[in-house]
Amino acid sequence: MHNPGHRFQAQDRFAAGAQYIAGRPVKGTSGRNHTVVDPATGDDLHTYQLAGPDDVDAAVRAARETFPGWSGATPGERSDAMHRFAAVLADRAEEFAQAESLQCGKPIKLTREFDVPGTIDNTAFFAGAARHLQGQSAGEYSGDHTSYVRREAIGVVGSIAPWNYPLQMAAWKVLPAIAAGNTIVLKPAELTPFTSLLFAEAATAAGIPDGVVNIVTGAGRDAGEHLVGHPDVVMTSFTGSTAVGKRVAEIATSTVKRLHLELGGKAPFVVFDDADLEAAVHGAVAGSLINTGQDCTAATRAYVQRPLYEEFVSRTAELMESVRLGDPFAPDTDLGPLISVAQRDRVAGFVDRARSYARVVTGGEIPKGLERGAYYRPTLIADAAQDSEIVQSEIFGPVLVVVPFDSDDEGIRLANDTPYGLAASAWSRDLYRANRATREIKAGCVWVNDHIPIISEMPHGGYKASGFGKDMSSYSFEEYTQIKHVMFDNTAVARKDWHRTIFGDR
Ligand code: NAD
Repeated sequence: MHNPGHRFQAQDRFAAGAQYIAGRPVKGTSGRNHTVVDPATGDDLHTYQLAGPDDVDAAVRAARETFPGWSGATPGERSDAMHRFAAVLADRAEEFAQAESLQCGKPIKLTREFDVPGTIDNTAFFAGAARHLQGQSAGEYSGDHTSYVRREAIGVVGSIAPWNYPLQMAAWKVLPAIAAGNTIVLKPAELTPFTSLLFAEAATAAGIPDGVVNIVTGAGRDAGEHLVGHPDVVMTSFTGSTAVGKRVAEIATSTVKRLHLELGGKAPFVVFDDADLEAAVHGAVAGSLINTGQDCTAATRAYVQRPLYEEFVSRTAELMESVRLGDPFAPDTDLGPLISVAQRDRVAGFVDRARSYARVVTGGEIPKGLERGAYYRPTLIADAAQDSEIVQSEIFGPVLVVVPFDSDDEGIRLANDTPYGLAASAWSRDLYRANRATREIKAGCVWVNDHIPIISEMPHGGYKASGFGKDMSSYSFEEYTQIKHVMFDNTAVARKDWHRTIFGDR
């Protein structure tokens, strides 16, 4: 059915420009170009003009102008438009999969089976959720008044997204914002603009009004900071590294913006000694290598109780070695390259430094024959100390480190011992042990006997230095709406009872 060798033609597709403002593609005006490079081959794919502050201003203006109409539409009208949006995405699914695989180097089976269907499902979920925005039920709390709560859209949202899941990140930012009646300006990462642009175009094709979804593809320090500091943007929603998140928070705070931060992760994977070892080994390989490890929730630190430790290490290494690296468009490729040679070299740097204090069990090298792309072998590291760099820092590559533990107390303490708290998993067949881990591990998501699955109905977001606020699910509406208390007097008298505090007995 699909031609695995087919390539998305970016130069033709984005000839009109890599900005999407007020319902149409336009060229950036920063005066600077950016070239998107194929991570699998190093070939240039597309050169486009980056957005600068003037483009951000134009996008915010478009979003501001369309806000009264979109926020004033009925929930049913917004829902209908978003159902059509989901249908357009489904019609164009193969184009999205090709474009995402091309710009990220993701295996085509991953984009066809995960990124694209996940985005369509998210869109359908928020189309439904748009009709379920609720305030608190009304009541006569004072006795003399009727109070109720209105849940209202907040205005123009400015969002910034990373390169690891460009389509899904665009969807996670755009969908709850517009379902709640806001309008949005999204800045994708410069490296990966394609699918965010296609996403905005699909919104227009579905009849979502011009200016509701705008895309500016510019550099972080330039377009990104201008968007965060823009006086007409009422909220910043940022997904990316903790270091950049801190800078974004400073700018957003100085302009009194609502802030939602989805930051880095270093997910623990805790294997108790009663676990199904076969399941844990498969879970560790799939959970650490998904998207070539460039996943903020990827399993990165496996803590394995001493009786299972050596067998876990040898079986995980063996299974990692069976994973097939290669052309992202070949149907049997399991793992693609990293996003860039710079990212690969950064990952290799972590591994090379670890050689002096830990054991590289497998991987730790660039695979032969794939030197032109940003490939790196799946890597397993054992015997690292808890306070070492490889255990504490976010690597964002296909690297899993394994650390032994003795008591359950120790396993849970080590799992909590990094600044991050985005996701974690616990592996055990004992209900009480697993349940204790879900209570005591400080993370926004804890899986039991699995690691990675996400669903539209459930929230995604961090604890600790992984940020605050939720993507996906109805919980995300807490970020993208504001609530207003409305209070009606029921007495119809001029002198209210409480006026005694001013007038006394007069
Ligand atoms: P990054 O922080 O370098 O960049 C993210 C985005 O911020 C990009 O669009 C970039 O252009 C922009 N940016 C950079 N400097 C900026 C500035 N000064 N002001 C405004 N914007 C700026 O992150 P990345 O390397 O693109 O992505 C990887 C990171 O994202 C990892 O740390 C990963 O854990 C994190 N991530 C988190 C989640 C989550 O849900 N918590 C999801 C995906 C990725």
